[in-house]
Amino acid sequence: MKKTGKCKICKEIKELNFEHIPPRSAFNKETKYYTLNQTDYFENLDEYVFKNLKPKSRKHQGGLGQYCFCEECNGFLGSKYVRTYKKFAQIAMSIIQYSGNAKAYQFDISDINLLKFLKQITSMFIGCNDHVFTELYPELLEFVKDDNKIDLSNRFRFYMYLNNEGQNRNGIIQFTNLYGTVCEFNFIPFGFVLSIDNPNRIMELSEITNFKYYEEIKKNGKVPIILNKYPTYYPFPLDYRAKDDLKSNL
Ligand SMILES: [Zn+2]
Repeated sequence: MKKTGKCKICKEIKELNFEHIPPRSAFNKETKYYTLNQTDYFENLDEYVFKNLKPKSRKHQGGLGQYCFCEECNGFLGSKYVRTYKKFAQIAMSIIQYSGNAKAYQFDISDINLLKFLKQITSMFIGCNDHVFTELYPELLEFVKDDNKIDLSNRFRFYMYLNNEGQNRNGIIQFTNLYGTVCEFNFIPFGFVLSIDNPNRIMELSEITNFKYYEEIKKNGKVPIILNKYPTYYPFPLDYRAKDDLKSNL
């Protein structure tokens, strides 16, 4: 199925493809999901998390995503960045699955092209948000459109974590008291935070802003990364309280 609309990358009115966010090849092929109103979810958190309450909304199937990019831009992302994302996602998934219940994981990612990975994440945030997002932050669009571009101003800081329990966070820009402007997206096995104009480092997460300097980083040989694994039960950005905390608060 196709729809006509304005592509969020080239900004032309075209036929738009259904864009899988994250990529279809990264465990998002047959995803079944419900779209929940945040207030409904929060008011009935206990029922949803512990009592297996099924939402009243329609169940969707076939992968999370939306009609946001034209075929050409979709093809560009596919040929430039998606394979890298898939590769990292597969490594992270196997680490989560076979390492029991650890809270933090260290592994070597020197054979992942981290610049491409960062561009793929940026394209996902662009896809999740309205056009106004790239009107506010055109630099992010330029970063995605040019696969060789490494400069991106330091007002944009990226963070990541591992995730395999809780609800999906949809990447839409939010204004928080504690962290300022943030976008948070998670889908097994990853969670990503884009923090804008906040000079303070978000301590709970692993900062990956420097992935843009991949060409420099890889000269050092091994590239170890430590990622924490967090659940996402609460419908608030950067809230990683566990199921047990939830229970004791009810
Ligand atoms: Zn396009």
